[in-house]
Amino acid sequence: MIFKTIDKKDFNKFLEILIENNSFFAPQKIAKDKNNKPIYDLRLVNDFKEIDFNYDILKYPPRRFFLPYREAISSFEIKNSSWQQNINYETKVPRILLGLHPCDINSLNKLDKVLMLGDYPSPYYTIRRKNTFIIGMDCDPKPFCFCRSVGTHTVQHGCDMFLIDIGDRYFIEIFSNVAFDFLKKVTTKDITKKDDDEYKRIRRLKAEKFTAKIDVTDLTKILDMEFQSDVWKEWGDKCLGCGSCARVCPTCYCYGIEEKIDLKFQQAEKLKILHACTLIDFAEVAGGFNFRPERHIRLKYRYYHKHRGFVEAYEESLCVGCGRCGEACLAGITVPEVISSIRE
Ligand code: SF4
Ligand code: SF4
Repeated sequence: MIFKTIDKKDFNKFLEILIENNSFFAPQKIAKDKNNKPIYDLRLVNDFKEIDFNYDILKYPPRRFFLPYREAISSFEIKNSSWQQNINYETKVPRILLGLHPCDINSLNKLDKVLMLGDYPSPYYTIRRKNTFIIGMDCDPKPFCFCRSVGTHTVQHGCDMFLIDIGDRYFIEIFSNVAFDFLKKVTTKDITKKDDDEYKRIRRLKAEKFTAKIDVTDLTKILDMEFQSDVWKEWGDKCLGCGSCARVCPTCYCYGIEEKIDLKFQQAEKLKILHACTLIDFAEVAGGFNFRPERHIRLKYRYYHKHRGFVEAYEESLCVGCGRCGEACLAGITVPEVISSIRE
């Protein structure tokens, strides 16, 4: 990894270079919630003034740029009396995502393990991941963030470059050759002792700001021991089975397949649609049998996938501690509370 600094005015020039011939997405204020609090999302940039780096959290995780809620994975049609299959997963224009926080970059690293580096890589996901240039940005922990507990408050890989605001300039961690080459087009500086001290001061300050946390010590073992615990029933009684938690989660990737055939049997389409494990039909199979008809069982399996099964397969949890699910949940169910109750 290479470290540099860039003055903020030079960073603006850098953005102007990047926007040429690329689709450029950055955090923008898109609405206000019922408490008059701004809602942010990654949106296509038309004017740099629209970008807001001081956002708290993106309402919708960047997952959708790589794993859309709904996508046609293939279509079929009868042409000249023969049945043709069309598959198209190419992306024409390179994309740039600016301002991703560490939890969201780490969420992509986790998805990579399954969808790009796993036994059955998805070409759809892989091509989008390779075609996207990511600029990460450091953040201030909010009361719902517990990324530090799961080691995702900092970035080791998964983006092209990462920025830490140190006043009138950014401290840059350069991860890729592409970022290194792009940065040659603007003025950057070598790190000075002052930059280094400021960087460390800001990192220390950030570490002190975390309030939410989960204790993951022996968590897989505890989950195995407490599989039949009544605590799951208590949480299940609160859960509405609405699926909002999976909708906003940056690491959820479970999906269903739908096939649509036109009435004349001339065309068909196979759609991949992200599902949510807490929805009632998630484990329903042909014939109508449902393996998980009860809410507490579905909620339990959500936690076992994130904090037990994924850890067994990849030696890390599938939760990045972003706190989105707790913020979205109408029943007020949060990961720190559930984990703490099961530990007790
Ligand atoms: S958002 Fe809350 S209520 Fe809805 S399914 Fe998830 S845990 Fe249950
Ligand atoms: S489970 Fe909740 S806290 Fe964990 S990554 Fe998903 S949305 Fe974030």
